[in-house]
Amino acid sequence: MPRDTCRPDARPVACRGFCRACGRDHQLHENGARRHGLELMELLRTRRSLDLGAAATDSAPRLSTDWLYGEARGKMFGVLECLAPDGSTRILRAFSGQYNGLWEIDGWAPPLFDSRQLAAITAATEAEIKELGAALAYAGDPEDRRTLRRRRRQLSQDLMRRIHGLYRLTNFHGREASLFAAATNGSGIPTGTGDCCAPKLLNLAARSNLVPLGLAEFFWGRSNRSGTREEGRFYPSCAEKCAAILGFMLCGVEGSHAGPAA
Ligand SMILES: [Zn+2]
Ligand SMILES: [Zn+2]
Repeated sequence: MPRDTCRPDARPVACRGFCRACGRDHQLHENGARRHGLELMELLRTRRSLDLGAAATDSAPRLSTDWLYGEARGKMFGVLECLAPDGSTRILRAFSGQYNGLWEIDGWAPPLFDSRQLAAITAATEAEIKELGAALAYAGDPEDRRTLRRRRRQLSQDLMRRIHGLYRLTNFHGREASLFAAATNGSGIPTGTGDCCAPKLLNLAARSNLVPLGLAEFFWGRSNRSGTREEGRFYPSCAEKCAAILGFMLCGVEGSHAGPAA
């Protein structure tokens, strides 16, 4: 069976990953989520804002979708169709990474960490990295320069490790794990792992007692020149970052509903 290619719309499986606990892949299909994805596109098109609660004219300028056509060059969005304990359907929404510098926006899935903790550790280390940069500009001795550069590289690596250490992943057996424990790619966790729509949506569902029925992720904003990301197009979850953690995150999801019916 071929592995995930990055071809859009090529398969009905929206996301998948290898689960070490079960020794096999877990997956989630699109099912009804595509329709809700199209509805979200329509909302973004008409409101031109991520503020979906108020009238578009009242929304904060920072939430405007104009950002997606300039500096940001587009972004992935996702919807998760879920079954609530009372039998009703719930739709969760997410944007990948940060939106215009914001990790948290009302009505959208939060990140997998406490964003205040992230801000605190980032600010402290970044100030130190900046100081080293200034010292480097004045250091004449090659040996001093080498030491300063090594120290700066070490600080960046430590910061990335501490940031990754803040993530808490919950799956559908109610188990919680760090990024390091959940990832199947060992110490080689790429930057941004856990920030895509699929992990944000699944984590929120697992913590809210919701059973995922279907997932759909699409790109919105300025399409890139190479054509790998096109506005309004659906894409399966990424192989670079998500595949390594989705096995853990999807564990327990298949047994909790009728299965991958179309
Ligand atoms: Zn991803
Ligand atoms: Zn499993």
